[in-house]
Amino acid sequence: MTLKQLYNNGLRKLESGGVADARFEVWVLIEEIFGVNRADVIADILPAADTALADRFFDCCSRRAEGMPLQYIIGHWEFMGLDFQVDSSVLIPRQDTETLVEYITENYSGRLDILDMCCGSGCIGLSLKHLLPESRVVLCDISRDALETAYRNAQALNLDVTLKQCDLTNGYKEYFGENEFDIIVSNPPYIKSSDMQSLQRELAYEPRIALDGGPDGMKYYSWLISDWKGALRPGAQMILESGFDTQNDIYLMFLECEYGDVLKRRDANGTVRLVAAKKGLGK
Ligand code: GLN
Repeated sequence: MTLKQLYNNGLRKLESGGVADARFEVWVLIEEIFGVNRADVIADILPAADTALADRFFDCCSRRAEGMPLQYIIGHWEFMGLDFQVDSSVLIPRQDTETLVEYITENYSGRLDILDMCCGSGCIGLSLKHLLPESRVVLCDISRDALETAYRNAQALNLDVTLKQCDLTNGYKEYFGENEFDIIVSNPPYIKSSDMQSLQRELAYEPRIALDGGPDGMKYYSWLISDWKGALRPGAQMILESGFDTQNDIYLMFLECEYGDVLKRRDANGTVRLVAAKKGLGK
């Protein structure tokens, strides 16, 4: 079979499996598996595909058609221009989350102490270390498997960071000193438990522990905003990813806990994706 025929077969398989952006995803698989460019496939000038690779391609298309996310099938995904290894122990890096990294690099420079809490693959903390290389970056997660993935990413990207297993509901004092960080950034689990059943089928492949934010989706925000304030220096900033239905509660919680400069930022789709605030200078 030529690659063009394989492409057409793969496309039909993904479309019949209900994959929304089937064309894009088949191209990713073709490029990943055969290492060829699109123009040559479309022009149909390439020799017949290697049988073993063709089998692998069909196997990947079947798994995708059954709902497994493309990123887990190919095992890596791009975030902030860097390539991150991903597996089912971590959330897939989303473009929306780049809003947090962009906000920080637009507003900070130099040497900072940064904590990425609930780091998963490490995409936020490692991108920050890449873009603010003088900074000390600490990545924490409760999941040992996620930390292993983050460690592999740190190695592959040659970034010198500290990784630490940590349950944020134990409070910061168990792990860090007072006034230790200039920035705490986090994309914590924030889906309401009652919404976990009705997730898009792709999300069901992602780790529940990275998504379930308790009955109101606020469980981890409330710990971070109230308890972890002590780990911020006076004037330091907590920067949180928010879901569309948690942003106002996060905003109010920052005000209740007497933070200042509370702000929101939208992602490239126009959805509020970031809520941030600063610890006051006095406390
Ligand atoms: N952004 C994810 C979603 O859209 C949720 C990520 C999270 O809970 N931190 O479902």
